[in-house]
Amino acid sequence: MSPEEYFDPEIETMAPERVRALQEQKLTKQLDYLFARSPFYQEKLKAAGIRRDHLRTLADLANVPLTTKEELRESQLAAPPLGLHACVGLEKVIRIQASTGTTGRPSLVGLTRQDADGWTRVTARSFYTQGVRSTDIVMHGASLTLFAGGLPVKDAIERIGATFVPVGTGASEKLVMIAKTLRANVLHSTPSYAIYLADHVRQKEKMDPRALGFQKIVCGAEPGGGIPAVRAKIQDSWGARVTEGLGNADMLPIIFSECPDQSGMHYNAHEYVYCEIIDPDTRKVLPIEEGVSGELIYTSLERECVPLLRFRTRDRVTILGTSCACGRTGFKLRCLGRTDDMLIVLGVNIFPSAVRDVVSSFRPRTTGEVQILLEAPGPGVKPPLQIVAEYGDGTDPSSGLQAEIEHRIRAVLTVSSSVRLVPPGTLPRFEMKGQLVKKLYEG
Ligand SMILES: [Zn+2]
Repeated sequence: MSPEEYFDPEIETMAPERVRALQEQKLTKQLDYLFARSPFYQEKLKAAGIRRDHLRTLADLANVPLTTKEELRESQLAAPPLGLHACVGLEKVIRIQASTGTTGRPSLVGLTRQDADGWTRVTARSFYTQGVRSTDIVMHGASLTLFAGGLPVKDAIERIGATFVPVGTGASEKLVMIAKTLRANVLHSTPSYAIYLADHVRQKEKMDPRALGFQKIVCGAEPGGGIPAVRAKIQDSWGARVTEGLGNADMLPIIFSECPDQSGMHYNAHEYVYCEIIDPDTRKVLPIEEGVSGELIYTSLERECVPLLRFRTRDRVTILGTSCACGRTGFKLRCLGRTDDMLIVLGVNIFPSAVRDVVSSFRPRTTGEVQILLEAPGPGVKPPLQIVAEYGDGTDPSSGLQAEIEHRIRAVLTVSSSVRLVPPGTLPRFEMKGQLVKKLYEG
């Protein structure tokens, strides 16, 4: 591979032992800083009986208690605005982003100038990994405000030298008009919006989305871009290559991103965020090896405002490999969804994104749009799983399709389901993250 294939050739192709040595060096500095400046960790580590000299290597981190989102929220309520986990005052902060989480009240995330530079560098590296280059024109079809996939993405795209066009959401007509005028070749959005926009172009603009000329669609913020049948649907609609990224508002906007090989998202933030994968039930650290599944845990290696140790992401991932044709040495994974979204049917873990994948695999006999109905709060669900799916244009819904979908769901996901077919266009479409689960109960 030529050096132009990489944004940071040295880091991206570094041998794993050298990455580890670099990370250990960074961790030492970060821990000195945390022990000196973070009231939150001074307290938490003392309560766990951990002194600074107990933590010498990356492996020692396994003894550090995990940090949860709830703790950060409480820390912020106890010491507003940034919380007891903030190591600097607001005078050193140049931007506030927010992390929404699933339970309402957003928590604030402060960035110093140094933090913002790190975010920009790694996020730029991630877009570059996905094939964004300085000659590209990027339509940003996602929120810009507060969202970690907003302004930090603008900074990253501009760092690459590509042209950033901040359209936002709720402006599909404008997006199409400007994309045509500029001959834009990249769309950055959620996978749900890439699907929504294709429908919009067909129905409202009476145009084949392929005629718009996007070559690369860069997805994030929800699973979908890497789910085979959903990816195929977006690629077919636009005639473009779809890649995806994964990050975390409390840590860094994009930590994993997929190269054009499309075989999983590469770990891309070596010198900035250390990753572990744990068994979410036993909390045991799992090896970084192909086939391993678990929850992603992040530790800051170079953060000034809000460094975090062993932060629980609730993201469930599977490692797909530790080498790649592109030459990057960062391991690759796929995210199945968040623990909060997971359903359990008779002991079987089901991610709504997996149901979507099965239903989408019937295209064009289905549109791929799907909704799971919940009669009572999860994660436990009484079988059969209630699913509403749209049949495709020109498909006869009484042709046995329903039974075929139920059969395939049982074969692939090992749970029984009851599928109801509805006409194309019946289910809601989303411009930000899609909602695959519909609650039929109050609250
Ligand atoms: Zn690769």
